[in-house]
Order: sequence, then C-alpha cells, then structure tokens
Amino acid sequence: MRNVVLLGPPGAGKGTIAVRAAEELNLSHLSTGDVLRDEVARGTELGKKARGFMDRGELVPDEVVLAMVRERVRGREGVLLDGFPRTLAQAEGLAEFLPVHVVVYLAVGKDEVVRRLGSRRVCASCGAVYNLVTQRPRTAGRCDRCGGELRQRPDDAPEVVAHRYEVYERESQPLIEHYARQGVLVSVDAARPPEAVVADVIRVLRS
Ligand code: ADP
Ligand code: AMP
Repeated sequence: MRNVVLLGPPGAGKGTIAVRAAEELNLSHLSTGDVLRDEVARGTELGKKARGFMDRGELVPDEVVLAMVRERVRGREGVLLDGFPRTLAQAEGLAEFLPVHVVVYLAVGKDEVVRRLGSRRVCASCGAVYNLVTQRPRTAGRCDRCGGELRQRPDDAPEVVAHRYEVYERESQPLIEHYARQGVLVSVDAARPPEAVVADVIRVLRS
C-alpha cells in the first residue's frame, strides 16, 4: 500500500479530507497536530515540550516531531500523513524511514484559509472538525458524533493564524517544489466544497 502526504496551508482542509479519504481507502491517518494536541492535553513530557510552540503558532522542533512520527509509523504501510512533513528537514528525515509515494497538495488562497480558520470549531472530546459557515453541526455547539462540546482552538485566534500562515510560507511552501522535483506531487483545487475536494483526492489516490 502506498504512503501519502497531504500538503497545504493551515485551514486548507487537510484534516477534513484526510479523515474521509483514509476511511474510504483504508489508509492509516496520522495527523501530527492531533497527536501533539493529545500529548498536551495529557500533560506528557512531549506535550510540555510542544505546548509553547503550538500556542505561539510556531513549529515544534524537527527532531521532536520526527521521533514522534518515526515511532508511530514503525512497521506500517498505507499511511496518510496530515500536517507532516512541514519543513525540508522533516521531509529529508522522513525519507530515511518511510517512502512517500504520492503527495497531494491542497491548493487554496490565503484569504479563504483565514476565513475558514476564523469559523473552525473542534470537538473537545473526539477532535471532530466543524465550521460555523461551511460544516455546521446538527445541534449548535455540540458534536454530531459524540455530543461533545465544540470549541475554538486557541491557535485559531486571528493574530496566531497570521503567524502560522507566515511560518507556512517560509517553512512549508518549499516542500511543494521539493516533491514536484521528485515527480510525486499532485495538485488539487481545494477552494471548493469538501465533497468535491475529497472526491478528487480519492480519484488521485486510486489511480
Ligand atoms: P487543516 O487540517 O488543513 O488545518 P481543517 O480540515 O481543519 O484544515 O479545515 C479548516 C476549516 O475549514 C474547518 O472549519 C473545516 O470544517 C473547514 N473546511 C475544510 N474543508 C473545507 C472546504 N473544502 N470548504 C469549506 N470549508 C472547509
Ligand atoms: P495542525 O493541527 O496541523 O494545524 O498543527 C497545529 C500545531 O501543531 C502547529 O501550528 C505546530 O505548532 C504543531 N505541529 C503540527 N505538525 C507539526 C509538524 N509537522 N512540525 C512541527 N510542528 C507541528
């Protein structure tokens, strides 16, 4: 089974698309953001290391994230990586322990992602992702899946979003060119409703 990377700015819809594509294609979804938030919530050593970086909208150091991913993908294939790699050093580190067969770049402009992040809500219990404008829960403030409370992520505050976008441009955008040169990059227009985006991503991954 092939290993896949989902690339794109914060708010591109990586998590939303990854959950649906992984289920449809039987891939093993790994979101480094979700893993790190869980470590922070449980107050582990890793969570304590990561928290400040995350709150400020900065990247957690490469060696910390690389070790975390390496441990979680050991012995697996058919992995769908969401939010990793985010730097060239992470891409190079990853190549040493997991071959990347396809990279799907979710292309969407800054104004749209900033809008999406302003209205993103996540379930405090299960982490499911909603949007007050485009992906509303059936009952206001409650998760459709588990009934948990919907909250705003602290790093979705406007000033943190602005910084995360700068970090994305500086650290992560070069990965588009990096994977294009390797001949594994496929671009998908992500400025469309999730159903259309996920259908395209699934088509790409089946081909
Ligand atoms: P990422 O993981 O790339 O940061 P998310 O999947 O969390 O992005 O999506 C960011 C926000 O945008 C969420 O509120 C989500 O519900 C919403 N969203 C995701 N995909 C789309 C889309 N194609 N169109 C509109 N809103 C979307
Ligand atoms: P995300 O859920 O992908 O938006 O990630 C939330 C935050 O977790 C980021 O702003 C970073 O602080 C941290 N993070 C997630 N993935 C990585 C990564 N691959 N490298 C460094 N930091 C990461």
